Amino acid sequence: MSELITSSAAVLAEKLASREVSAVEVTQAHLDRIAAVDGDIHAFLHVNTDEALEVASGVDKARAAGEELHALAGVPIAIKDLIVTVGQPTTAGSKMLEGWMSPYDATVISRIRAARMPMLGKTNLDEFAMGSSTEHSAYGPTRNPWDLDRIPGGSGGGSAAAVAAFEAPLALGTDTGGSIRQPASVTGSVGVKPTYGGVSRYGAIAMASSLDQIGPVSRTVLDAAMLQEVIGGHDPRDSTSLTDPVGNLVEAARNGSVAGMRIGVIKELQGEGYQPGVQARFDESLELLKDAGAEIVEVSCPNFKYALGAYYLIMPSEASSNLAKYDGVRYGMRRLPQDPPLTIERVMGATRAAGFGDEVKRRIILGTYALSAGYYDAYYGSAQKVRTLIQRDFNAAFAQADVLISPTSPNTAFKLGEKLDDPLAMYLNDVATIPANMAGVPGISIPGGLADGLPVGIQFLAPAREDVRLYRAGAALEGLLEQKWGGPLLASAPVLGGVK
Ligand code: GLN
Repeated sequence: MSELITSSAAVLAEKLASREVSAVEVTQAHLDRIAAVDGDIHAFLHVNTDEALEVASGVDKARAAGEELHALAGVPIAIKDLIVTVGQPTTAGSKMLEGWMSPYDATVISRIRAARMPMLGKTNLDEFAMGSSTEHSAYGPTRNPWDLDRIPGGSGGGSAAAVAAFEAPLALGTDTGGSIRQPASVTGSVGVKPTYGGVSRYGAIAMASSLDQIGPVSRTVLDAAMLQEVIGGHDPRDSTSLTDPVGNLVEAARNGSVAGMRIGVIKELQGEGYQPGVQARFDESLELLKDAGAEIVEVSCPNFKYALGAYYLIMPSEASSNLAKYDGVRYGMRRLPQDPPLTIERVMGATRAAGFGDEVKRRIILGTYALSAGYYDAYYGSAQKVRTLIQRDFNAAFAQADVLISPTSPNTAFKLGEKLDDPLAMYLNDVATIPANMAGVPGISIPGGLADGLPVGIQFLAPAREDVRLYRAGAALEGLLEQKWGGPLLASAPVLGGVK
């Protein structure tokens, strides 16, 4: 396999800067890889061939003319199809938006354009980002490059699979309850949910606005840091955007170290319910961190056990309200009722019945119910109180530790179809990732080795605005593990992911 597609973004950036390779060559190599393997993986819903090559060729010309360029100029990227883009369709994985072209770019897309990174295309996802397996996409599932019979996680399975299968060195995801970190975990890639407000949500199709966050997907911690620096920072178009910068992420990723760092093991996010192989890899990582000079302490977050329940009230409540705009009138799909009368309610009903899949309907019903008069206090109000308790647990834990650690997901990639008819089993995949969204704190998942031949993810969590700590600790553990394995985890992936 060509080094052009197995190199990290940081290495590609160096090769581009020294003119060892051209941006057109790098982009073409990834487009060729997509053409060769995406029939099996189905990570992409749209491939943006012409524009990607045009941007790449512009970068080569600018470099030849001696123009100063961004470090990632010419490094290609894939975009989760929940983020709106001019010139490429945006579907949100739903029939509701099939063929829809956004009239504006998301802020993160404007920043990627300004850095002159060629966009390879839009990646598959669970419909409106609701799911943990990408099986809820209206356009068919994505498959895990490690084993094509298994799920790549969700909702951002397309972005994670694209990166793990070497179809793209970088991708963007969105994480409302784990949709960047859990797919990274089960595909052996790196995924970061930045601090809430650290990356603009303007142009990310809203699922649950108080939980949603855009973030990077990559194969190395340094690459994720480089990408977060491109997309992050204040945006006046997002009223929840933070005004202060989060610090030098790239420097933290280049200087990974845990010496003297207090790492809190969250008692409630391990043990029972966690696959034995996942627990074993997690315990090994703790040993490595301890040997590298970290102080390992146990912390207790007793309210985390309510996080999943509270999430499945708050998220559907916000989603039911955010998705009310798909009414068959303003934009997107329109279906007319079969029989008269042609009232607006009946057009809306016919459109939403045909346009939304089962999981989206389930959540709209749940959310509408939780917000209805008479139930609001009992469900939505109680869930908000639980949210405060979770935030307090984090505060107490961060008084004892600089970062927290847990497995990212209780299990490795499961088989396609295995949990599709059991929503509760599906929801349990996010038991370890949801607390971060509830509190707005940042989290990273890095590959922690294999259990029964499938990737396991290790998650670090840091206090809000302390994303640098994630990169410092994540890069340190990545280095320790690669030393142990003799190279990156993805280099050993069988079939499509493998370098061999
Ligand atoms: N899997 C979780 C859900 O289904 C998380 C989704 C997400 O982060 N977008 O809600």
